[in-house]
Amino acid sequence: MPAERIRDLQSEKLTSQVRHVYDHVPYYRSLMDQKGVRPEDIRGIKDIGKLPFLSKEDLRETYPYGMLAVPLSDCVRIQSTSGTTGKRVIAYYTQHDVDLWEECCARAIVAAGGSREDVVQVCYGYGLFTGGPGLNGGSHKVGSLTLPMSSGNTDRQIQFMMDLKATILCCTPSYASYIGESLKESGYKPEDNFLKAGIFGAEPWTEEMRRDIERLLGIKAYDIYGLTETSGPGVAFECAAQNGMHINEDHFYAEIIDPATGEPLPDGEKGELVFTSLDKEAFPLLRYRTRDICVLTREKCSCGRTHVRMSKPMGRSDDMMIIRGVNVFPSQIEAVLLKEGYAPNYLIEVDRVNNSDTLDVYVELLPEQFTDTVGGITAMEKKLAGAIRTMLGIGPIVHLVAPKSIKRSEGKAVRVIDKRKLHD
Ligand code: ADP
Ligand code: ZN
Repeated sequence: MPAERIRDLQSEKLTSQVRHVYDHVPYYRSLMDQKGVRPEDIRGIKDIGKLPFLSKEDLRETYPYGMLAVPLSDCVRIQSTSGTTGKRVIAYYTQHDVDLWEECCARAIVAAGGSREDVVQVCYGYGLFTGGPGLNGGSHKVGSLTLPMSSGNTDRQIQFMMDLKATILCCTPSYASYIGESLKESGYKPEDNFLKAGIFGAEPWTEEMRRDIERLLGIKAYDIYGLTETSGPGVAFECAAQNGMHINEDHFYAEIIDPATGEPLPDGEKGELVFTSLDKEAFPLLRYRTRDICVLTREKCSCGRTHVRMSKPMGRSDDMMIIRGVNVFPSQIEAVLLKEGYAPNYLIEVDRVNNSDTLDVYVELLPEQFTDTVGGITAMEKKLAGAIRTMLGIGPIVHLVAPKSIKRSEGKAVRVIDKRKLHD
């Protein structure tokens, strides 16, 4: 659809969505009343800036059903966040909402080359977490043969992948990397499996990690983004251009704001991503602040899709660590590790000793890097610490540790332990 028509469609949907929310969600109605905005003031997307924001705190405050915009008897499902950053938030869906979400996931699978001929192995967790159910439903909608594996039990994942000739793998990037590593250990070469593509998301991952996984599995790796509050995965997905994720703009309107002031920023500028769901029924959040930091672009995409693209989120604003006054994202450290030839198996530990922040990075050696000479290891640690210092502007202490000594993740990886929080 040409951009202008998308905008008209969004305007039309927004107008009725605001009315729906105002009439059925007392919590949001009072936010609008406080701001002095009436539903009739919103005549299209151009007026969206008049609406109040919603944040995770609002959802915690209204837990469990304070955002419900339809009778509970119209709902058919709940899902919940992973609780990465605090108390869980729950989301509720009517059958229409489930269909809408699954259609978004179906688009992601098709964009990665999927069709009814494919065998889609879903090893995101099933249950409250949205990853498994979302991609499972999307795969059904495409008509692919779906393997509802859920996460974990890696030996069984590999056995089914080979026996049933899976062609598309869906999981977190950290689990994809773990599966790749396990395949290699079982003696398989990248060309031995039948996979052609992977759809990986739910956590931040770098371009370096993408290339690493592509090499390890012999596939093309596509990014997928979403959050429970908007539905789940599939809000945005990569096309063959692998250059930013197309947002399903007919269902979700995206804005970028300055996280400090709430002011909207123009395309191309980095800021916090804010979503308005345009046609969800049960849990229709307006101007929801994701805390994810990224950039939007409307430049033409070589795939032909006209939907706006978002860059990889560089981490959540609350993932960012301030160490000795410097802003540090785990993804920056990951990029250096992979560039220096290490595997993405690492743990970042931040602490405060004598009022000064400390940064320790534990990195696993690959079996072929393993050496018995202490001098050799020390030199490697120094070199890596230097490369990280060049990237961040502050120096870490690097600890190279034995292969397989850092716990692997089957879902969202935990990369940071910030012990300073214990002292606060
Ligand atoms: P929680 O907030 O508890 O982790 P969710 O499971 O709903 O709950 O996770 C949504 C969050 O996961 C997003 O806000 C974002 O920070 C992160 N995320 C999801 N997909 C991606 C992706 N492709 N790249 C980076 N981060 C992602
Ligand atoms: Zn594209």
